[in-house]
Amino acid sequence: MGKKPTYEELEQRVKELEKEAFRRKKAEEELKELHRYTRELIEASLDPLVTISTDGKITDANHAAELVRGYPRDKLIGTDFSDYFTDPRKARQGYLKVFREGYIRDYPLEIRHRDGKTTPVLYNASVYLDAKGDVAGVFAAARDITRRKKAEEALLKSEKKLKALFAELAAKNEELDSFVYRVSHDLKSPVVTIEGFVGALKEDFGGVLSEDGKKYLRYISDAARKMELLVNDLLDLSRIERVTRRKREFSFARLVEDAVKALQPQLKARGIVVNIQGDLPVVYGERMRLSRVMDNLLTNAIKYIGKENPSPRIDVGVEEQDGQKAFFVRDNGIGIDERDFDKIFQVFHRLPSAKQIAGEGTGVGLTIVKRIIEHHGGEIWLISEPGKGSTFYFTIKNLG
Ligand code: ADP
Repeated sequence: MGKKPTYEELEQRVKELEKEAFRRKKAEEELKELHRYTRELIEASLDPLVTISTDGKITDANHAAELVRGYPRDKLIGTDFSDYFTDPRKARQGYLKVFREGYIRDYPLEIRHRDGKTTPVLYNASVYLDAKGDVAGVFAAARDITRRKKAEEALLKSEKKLKALFAELAAKNEELDSFVYRVSHDLKSPVVTIEGFVGALKEDFGGVLSEDGKKYLRYISDAARKMELLVNDLLDLSRIERVTRRKREFSFARLVEDAVKALQPQLKARGIVVNIQGDLPVVYGERMRLSRVMDNLLTNAIKYIGKENPSPRIDVGVEEQDGQKAFFVRDNGIGIDERDFDKIFQVFHRLPSAKQIAGEGTGVGLTIVKRIIEHHGGEIWLISEPGKGSTFYFTIKNLG
């Protein structure tokens, strides 16, 4: 027989029991609060969340899941997860994959609402475990991508439209090019004939022609020569896109040297100094055509340097512009108004000041230059100020 507890001992025991009961109650309240908090978070989620049992039945769903399917939670629980999709087979494959691999990410499905409306979603899902550590089911969260899909579709549509427009434009350009080619090609031979016969006329009948007659012949000859220049420029222009010349690596420094050398008589006559700046790189491209670019830009710089310029100067070089190497040809000539920057690249466009200062010209040169640069995947632009001079910049895609 054990010793009977004393009154004090009993009192002590009761106190301990009371304390224990209090602790338990507190723990229970804390657990309840934790449960409420977790549930609150799940319900607050804007993404539809469901849990799925190992046999594919919905075991829980939040409010967003109710909204997207159009059924209350108690109607959803116990039903087959895959029943709420436009493609149930794909939905089933999705959760089977989760069981197999542990998770899926961005799995695309389309949830069908009770009233037929569909919502495109991306599923992220993973397995969750029970207290013993066994797989209890799948926790699946869907992200509504309706807006993203709409934006993507709109983008795709405008991309398609743009592509069609580009194709149309390219076809039109091609058509125009071959038209220009045909016309200029057909014009070339009558022009040559006129020039030939003007020469013959001068030679055979020069002696019997009056001064007026000779003057008229000169006019015809000048006009025919101008026309020949124009026809040749147009022929060149129409060929750039249609015909690609042999591309190779070459020294741009050499190209510039050659171009300057060829223009030496004009440069000397005008007392123009040419400075070549910086290390000109090796370039991969059509040398002949890039020579034409330099020749045109330098010829323009000479033409438009200004008759009264006390210290005419041209700088040629390369410098960093927006993180890429840009070649430049700079003059301290008459300059160009910003309003005319785009116009001067248009075919036949000549500024009135140019006609005054440089006389003849076809207005095709810069159009050809621009086409050649674009044909080399580059860009051309300028900065200029009337009275101060112009700098023409251009890039080429393939620097050696
Ligand atoms: P062209 O020189 O035969 O007139 P371009 O196509 O080469 O034709 O040039 C178009 C126009 O751009 C020129 O008529 C001229 O008005 C202007 N331009 C070109 N280069 C310069 C320059 N370096 N300085 C001033 N104006 C220029």
